[in-house]
Amino acid sequence: MRNSLSIISLGFLIISCGTQKSLKTTTTKTTTPVVAPAKPVINVQKPKIQHEGGLDFFKENIANITKNDNTISYGSIVSANPAGYKVVKSFFPSVGQNFRQKYIILHYTALDDDKSVMVLTQQSVSSHYLVNNLGDNEIYQLVDENKRAYHAGISAWRKDKMLNDTSIGIEIVNTGYKTDANGVKVFPEYPEAQVKKVAALVKDLADRYMISPTNILGHSDIAPTRKQDPGPKFPWKKLYEDYQIGMWYDEDTKQNFYNSAVLEDYAVQMTVPSFVFKIQTALRDFGYDLNPNGTFDNATMKTIETFQYHFRPENYSGMMDAETWAILQALNVKYPNK
Ligand SMILES: [Zn+2]
Repeated sequence: MRNSLSIISLGFLIISCGTQKSLKTTTTKTTTPVVAPAKPVINVQKPKIQHEGGLDFFKENIANITKNDNTISYGSIVSANPAGYKVVKSFFPSVGQNFRQKYIILHYTALDDDKSVMVLTQQSVSSHYLVNNLGDNEIYQLVDENKRAYHAGISAWRKDKMLNDTSIGIEIVNTGYKTDANGVKVFPEYPEAQVKKVAALVKDLADRYMISPTNILGHSDIAPTRKQDPGPKFPWKKLYEDYQIGMWYDEDTKQNFYNSAVLEDYAVQMTVPSFVFKIQTALRDFGYDLNPNGTFDNATMKTIETFQYHFRPENYSGMMDAETWAILQALNVKYPNK
């Protein structure tokens, strides 16, 4: 049943007469009978609420799905307990509501299992979930989904900023990169068992909160000048292909852009302000927090690098090239920023 809430007579007030006694006292000096206001009678078919562990839960769609109010919820109903008064749920739930959770942000901890748990529970950083690397079937929850965890920091994507307010944060145990003798960042692999856990968790969250593919991102996507996680070894393509999670480009569209590109020296092109401006605008349009200025500066290079971590992980030099440029354009065609 997609829409369990049916309001049969919302707003239809049945006015009933007052008591005999009050009528007698109030009608003696007037010809117009005065009726006492009565409680509105509203026939609402309430969703089933079950009580569990001192909390109320509901497990049905609580609003009108045709209005795109993404309110399928399996969460707890937290109510006020005002001293001396009773909270009445006769009018609950309103159809006009949606979820606050709009994003899923993936991280790596850059720590081992024990230290990850310690830091994320005992210090000022936190995440809603922690995916260990122990090969078991457990995923740790550290923060209630309805509360804010401190995982994103200063961050932005498309029109949104400070994404702690609107996101679910998932930390994945992974030791993070080491820099080799040539100054290249070398990232460790994610074991398949761990990737499966992450995928199952993200799938569940994305389905429940109806999170857009454009809003399932890595920490580096929303803070490209500061962050590298979850890094180029995180298999975004596999998540897209095997679990329908997040974004990926269409190969044909990418190939068309690639074929129509003049195969020029992009290192030289990146010294041409008009070309740099075009690249920066495309990155900004896709969602990155980048201000087009025509200069191939550090912020632009870091943003290209983080884009490559996500969508062209074979080479994450931070330099623009024909393939990266074709992928970026193909993504802007598929996921326009409205
Ligand atoms: Zn992070």
